[in-house]
Amino acid sequence: MDLQGKISLVTGGSRGIGRACCFALAGEGCGVAVNYQHNKDAAEDVVAELKNNGVEARAFQADISDEEQTNVMIEQIMNEFDRVDIVVNNAGITRDRSFLKMTRDQWHSVLLVNLDGPFNVISALLPQMCERKWGRIINISSIVAQMGNFGQANYAVAKGGMIAFTKSLAREVAKKGVTVNAVAPGFIETDMTAAVPEEALDMVRKMTPMGRLGRPEEVGRAVRFLAAQEASFITGQVININGGMYM
Ligand code: NAP
Repeated sequence: MDLQGKISLVTGGSRGIGRACCFALAGEGCGVAVNYQHNKDAAEDVVAELKNNGVEARAFQADISDEEQTNVMIEQIMNEFDRVDIVVNNAGITRDRSFLKMTRDQWHSVLLVNLDGPFNVISALLPQMCERKWGRIINISSIVAQMGNFGQANYAVAKGGMIAFTKSLAREVAKKGVTVNAVAPGFIETDMTAAVPEEALDMVRKMTPMGRLGRPEEVGRAVRFLAAQEASFITGQVININGGMYM
């Protein structure tokens, strides 16, 4: 159990990719703070299942785009677990619209959750990781950062920013024992893609050499690898998990 005794925070751990990350980390014995925004029942279900698997787990509500809510959550996590060793910046939203029709609010809300959110979480937790000389930050970016996508200029900017953030921060904290990496999933079967029209998903399948969408567990396994001791010399990297859609 590579991560026995470590504590992780997974933002947006109640559903989809975040949920899969919680189980992947717990599979290595890692305790999990499961963050959610609205879906308390889903988060509590994850926690119950994690506890059944024998790891420490608790759900924490916060809108990570809100600095104050994030700080309160981090304080609650500290009271419960004493520290956080691994952060998975997973919580994210889309507000799709072609750029000609995109409102300022749609632009800002995506940047606020997908970029300011990780800023709020990392700012609060990085000092203690540096002090302990061990930490793992794993950012969930997207294939859209690399390829662009019709109707997702706001999302592509946020996810591209996340990759740039990953590389810059990795350089800053490498000597402090903290690694910072990203994963860039292609199209994964979650509630987020359930909102995409079926004909668009068919197009995605056609553009993907493996001919299918990915599964959340397939992202969770890469996150678990980046969190593990085995990944000790890997930092500032982006792992693509996309069935070959972008190479
Ligand atoms: P999802 O099924 O829509 O789940 C989103 C999760 O984020 C939920 O747990 C939600 O909490 C949480 N969340 C949303 N806004 C939040 C906020 N302001 N504060 C705290 N939590 C918040 O999404 P997903 O498909 O699993 O995507 C997870 C991440 O992977 C996102 O960053 C997404 O951009 C990225 N990604 C997804 C795909 C894909 O194809 N699905 C591909 C590439 C990248 P509640 O349950 O409380 O609502």
